[in-house]
Amino acid sequence: MSRERTPLMAGNWKMNLNHLEGVAHVQRMAFALKGEDYDACEVVVLTPFTDLRSIQVLVEADKLRIGYGSQDISRHAQGAYTGEVSGAMLAKLGCSYAVVGHSERRQYHGETNVVINAKAKAALANGITPIICYGEALEIREAGDQVLFSLGQVAECLEGFTPEEASSVVLAYEPIWAIGTGLTASPTDAQEVCGATRGWLAEHFGSDVADQIRILYGGSMKASNVASLMAQPDIDGGLVGGASLDPDEFVAMARYRLAAG
Ligand code: PEP
Repeated sequence: MSRERTPLMAGNWKMNLNHLEGVAHVQRMAFALKGEDYDACEVVVLTPFTDLRSIQVLVEADKLRIGYGSQDISRHAQGAYTGEVSGAMLAKLGCSYAVVGHSERRQYHGETNVVINAKAKAALANGITPIICYGEALEIREAGDQVLFSLGQVAECLEGFTPEEASSVVLAYEPIWAIGTGLTASPTDAQEVCGATRGWLAEHFGSDVADQIRILYGGSMKASNVASLMAQPDIDGGLVGGASLDPDEFVAMARYRLAAG
């Protein structure tokens, strides 16, 4: 197991918290988190686009060590794409991360692996780390095909990436049946897919690259289950939806090391 990879706890606020609420939320987190917490685990919030400017101002003014980013990014650089937000615009707001391929975007906005691949490249082109989501639906797990299916998604999302590009992404294994349902994958089930993912990355990009890439788990992760998931050798952090909306709970998650003893 390599804990040379810095753990990452990323809160996906989804369509919750306006900019005023978002600022209060980040302030509360910043009040609770100590230097040693940031040293042990990178802490990031992934907010609605409308919150980003306010959070940038807060983070920069108070020199907070909390990172932030968006929940989506346009695959296009600029132009007549009404409603889209480009990588350059997000970079200008100081975003370090952009989620791409969340299952809710796949489901409600028809995003395919090809689109997700282009969005991940657009993020990298602007110095933003894409957090690329993948993971199977319940029927696929029930058929026992979760590893095959998940690796197929990863392969298409990273199609055409150089090893250098691949080393700059974060992957987030999010079994769809676990997202927002209260059903968490067991540590063993989550490790099965995350471990297979690292094996696939080693085969395609080399073991050095595979060792560098952080693989997060997402799906009803909370303070009570984070430590057992983080104890798995190929789980390097969490992409946290519901539980990230409670700043105290999310801070407790970023401090999973204390629960782990
Ligand atoms: C998510 O939105 O990425 C997620 C994992 O949600 P939840 O933690 O609520 O299951």
